[in-house]
Amino acid sequence: MFLHKDIEHLSVVIPVYNEADCLPELLERTEKACAQLTCRYEIIMVDDGSRDGSAQMLVDAANKPGSPFVALMLNRNYGQHSAIMAGFEEAKGDLIITLDADLQNPPEEIPRLVAAANEGYDVVGTKRMNRQDTLFRRYSSRIINKSVQRATGVDMTDYGCMLRAYRRHIIDAMLQCHERSTFIPVLANSFARRTTEIQVGHNEREHGDSKYNFMRLINLMFDLVTCMTTAPLRLLSLAGGAIAALGLLFGMLLLLLRLVLGAEWAGDGVFTLFAFLFMFIGAQFVGMGLLGEYIGRIYSDVRARPRYFIQQIIRAPQESSDSDSERESQQA
Ligand code: UDP
Ligand code: MG
Repeated sequence: MFLHKDIEHLSVVIPVYNEADCLPELLERTEKACAQLTCRYEIIMVDDGSRDGSAQMLVDAANKPGSPFVALMLNRNYGQHSAIMAGFEEAKGDLIITLDADLQNPPEEIPRLVAAANEGYDVVGTKRMNRQDTLFRRYSSRIINKSVQRATGVDMTDYGCMLRAYRRHIIDAMLQCHERSTFIPVLANSFARRTTEIQVGHNEREHGDSKYNFMRLINLMFDLVTCMTTAPLRLLSLAGGAIAALGLLFGMLLLLLRLVLGAEWAGDGVFTLFAFLFMFIGAQFVGMGLLGEYIGRIYSDVRARPRYFIQQIIRAPQESSDSDSERESQQA
């Protein structure tokens, strides 16, 4: 199997949007959790255009001498996933852990994630034990997780929990993706070779409300779907084909019945009209699906994700040869 080096430098990335009430406790608990680690660490706090006191608190934390905190200020609100990407850009560690600022993910789990990554995993996901969210959020998220599982084939049960760890090469691969809307856990899994999932605690949000209202949740869901697949576009052609085929069958059945049972049975052609209508509607859907196929291809080209991602190259060590000594003499 692959040789994985033990983690030497950890980066924690936390997006912050109007979380002034949570910040003092978050900073303290995160620093304490990281202090237990044997490796070096940095804690990157990304301010996603907060309009409360959050930004100033982050600046103050980062300005203390010897502080592990790095404050990264975005000029306006870009959304959770973009903020995390900005944090990745700045992260120097060979393992990067993301978590939410609202203390729903206990920072005390950080050492467990590092330990799991040290077992040689590229991505460590988490599963929320007795999740403390609204019933609506829990059920919609269950449906979404199931379909992601089916579409990606990666065996992870909880994509919504942002307390996750990624190795350096996964982050580098994600930074090569220049798409504007993205869903980080799904994107990361597409570059991972070995993934695992551990159980973590989940708490109720103590201060303030979720930053996701209904519309933003819908937006997030579409980000997730489009980040992963263009299959919904293909559904159009499939549905259209099915409708057209049914219409054709219906028309043939009508013709048959008319020949057998007589003209007065067929209701003066009203149903024949339906049969034609179905065929045309079906054909329209097929046409739309065809357009969708082009759009899907344009989309994946525009997104320009790396076509493949080489994780590691293993080559037999070269015996020192003439060419090596030649090169050395040239350099000298
Ligand atoms: N967040 C952000 N920008 C946004 C919305 C949210 O940086 O536009 C951060 C927020 O501060 C928190 C995390 O993303 O650290 C998760 O947000 P929230 O707790 O509101 O989401 P939920 O737990 O309801 O999914
Ligand atoms: Mg939350």
